[in-house]
Formats: sequence, C-alpha cells, structure tokens
Amino acid sequence: MKPKDYVSDLKVYEPGKPIEEVARELGFDDVADILKVASNENELGPSPLAVEAMREAIPEMHRYPDGGAFYLKRALAEKLSVEPENLLFGCGSNELIVFLCHVFMERGKNLVMGAEAFAVYFLANALYQGETLRVPMPDHVHDLDAMLAAITPDTRLVAICNPNNPTGTMVSPAAIDAFIEKLPDHVVAVFDEAYFEVMPDAMKPDVLKHIRAGKENIIVLRTFSKAYGLAGLRIGYAVGHPELINLLNKVRQPFNVNLMAQAAARAALDDVTHIVETREMIFQGLEFFERELPKLGVEVVPSGANFVLIKTGNGRAVFEKLQKRKVIVRPMDPYGLPDHVRVTIGTPRQNEATRAALKDALARN
Ligand SMILES: *Cc1c(COP(=O)(O)O)cnc(C)c1O
Repeated sequence: MKPKDYVSDLKVYEPGKPIEEVARELGFDDVADILKVASNENELGPSPLAVEAMREAIPEMHRYPDGGAFYLKRALAEKLSVEPENLLFGCGSNELIVFLCHVFMERGKNLVMGAEAFAVYFLANALYQGETLRVPMPDHVHDLDAMLAAITPDTRLVAICNPNNPTGTMVSPAAIDAFIEKLPDHVVAVFDEAYFEVMPDAMKPDVLKHIRAGKENIIVLRTFSKAYGLAGLRIGYAVGHPELINLLNKVRQPFNVNLMAQAAARAALDDVTHIVETREMIFQGLEFFERELPKLGVEVVPSGANFVLIKTGNGRAVFEKLQKRKVIVRPMDPYGLPDHVRVTIGTPRQNEATRAALKDALARN
C-alpha cells in the first residue's frame, strides 16, 4: 500500500467504550446503575413525536431516503423563515463541518478557531491539510476581536461555537453582529449553534437575519443531536446563502441523511412540548450545579448549553474516581484543560447522583 503521507500521519479517532464494556471491566453487574454524562445527550430521551414517526417509517426501510430531503427542508424552512434553498442536511452537523473543509481547505490555507473549541473543526481541517490557527480564549470565552485579528489572506474559514463545546460559554448577540460587520469577504464564518434550542433567550444570537438579508459568507450549523434528543440518528443542518449551500451540496453523497432520521427530525420540529421540557430540565440542572458544586470547592464555568465545565484539579484523576463511582464524565486534557471535567446536565436525580459522586471522589483525593 502507498497511502498519502499526510493521511498516514493522521490519528484515528478513539471512540469511548460502550458503557456495557466499562461496567464489565469495573465489575458492576447492572449497566442501568451507570450514569453516563459524558456526551451532552438529552437525558429526557428523544421527542415522543419523533419516536412515533420512526415507528411509522419502519415498513419503508427497503427504500432509499429522499436525497433532497424535500418535506423536511420545506418544514424547516417555514419554521426558520428562510427558503428551502438556504438549507442543507448532514449526517450529523459533523458531516457539514467536513463538507466545509472539503470545499474550502487545502495545504497553505488556514482555519481560525478558539483554542478551547470543538475539536471536530481541527480534525476535519486536517483531512484536507489545512492549517489551524487557535486563538486564546480568556476566561474560556471566544475572543471575537482576536479571532478577526488572526485572519490572514490565506484564511478560508473561521469557526465560532456559540455556546462553545466544551466550555459552555457564549458570546453576546451584539458581539456577533459586530463581528459579522467586520468579517472580510474572503473568509466564511461558521456559527456552530449546536445548543441553540437550550440557550437562554437573552443570549440567542440572530445570525439568520443576516442570511435572510443575503449575506454570502456566513453559515449556521445546528443539529438534532442535542435538544431534540436524536444523536443516534445522525442528522444536522446548515443555513446559508444558496450559493454557499450549493457548493457544499457538490461534495455531498446523494443519500447522506437516512430515511429514519428525516422522518424523526420532521416530527421533532413540531414537538414544542419536548423542547420546553428539555429547556426546563437544563435550566434547573445548571442552576443546581452552579449553586451546589462550588460548595465542594470546585469552580463551575457559567454555561448556556446542556453541560458544564468544572475545574476540579486533575481532571483525568477525577474522571477515573467518578468512573469507579459509576458516573462517567469527560476529562478535558485533550482540550488543553487538564484541571477540568465536562458534565452533561441530566434529570434532577441524575444531577444529584453526579454531585454526590463528585463530593465523595474529591473527599478521598
Ligand atoms: C454536539 C456538537 C455538534 C453536533 O454534532 P452532530 O454531528 O450533529 O451530532 C456540533 N458542534 C458542536 C459544538 C457540538 O457540541
């Protein structure tokens, strides 16, 4: 074999172990005892309307999906007050990040992102040999002025995750508008709004208004994985100018979003109750952690998402201690935050279980 050198040099993404396997290794008999709060999943489960739609879709599984996602696109366009031509679906919004890099990145070009921001941007960029410029994030917040200043003539993409994963931090709507105003034409700004549906209303950015007004070099990414509770189906979407959407469409496989996912997403869009309940659970959980965890002597970074970043000291050791106490969190050393862990908000009972395990783990340091 003679693979390309740069491909040989890439690292294979290490998936987390299934919890059944973790349970077996640690000698726990019942997987149900294990609390996995490591992946920002919705602990309320999928939208019940989506579950019903998936049941109805089962007899159609011998069919290929609609490659244009016609009905889903129409429903979403109406919900967002945009045109169907403004929309593109991906196998998770992760796939849309790969499309963006496929279209814009190559050797000699760079992508600008936050130093503590979502790693998929770096990974997708590496697939196309792009350089990644990481901009420091004071207090774990994206510094939009510094990101603008980091842009060079070779910059093609700048990524802003808002709220950011894994820090949970947000930038204000006014700061976003000012950033868009100053964005150079040769750069496409990606606004990753994976947690948009659970954000506090006052912090919700309105990037779509710029897209409705015809701005060409900005794109919004959202997903059904988080608030909608459909992470296992893999479906996300992009909103952008038709010309930009068209470019991304050129590198898309015809059937990238499966039939089950399209059916579920369409139903989930109508499930207002599920989103309201999800938001209530998140707000309640964030308040609980922000109130209770500092009593344990740890720092909680204020979050606008369905997770919190916690400064515990030695995040890897805390992760291991929590795992022995049947709570799986995410250590943050891969993000350059060795003193932190990230914890997903769950139900009140789960949050209390996480708090109690953390208290116990820290007491026996
Ligand atoms: C979870 C997440 C995504 C969503 O990924 P999917 O592929 O849609 O599941 C995208 N961006 C950020 C910042 C995320 O945290």
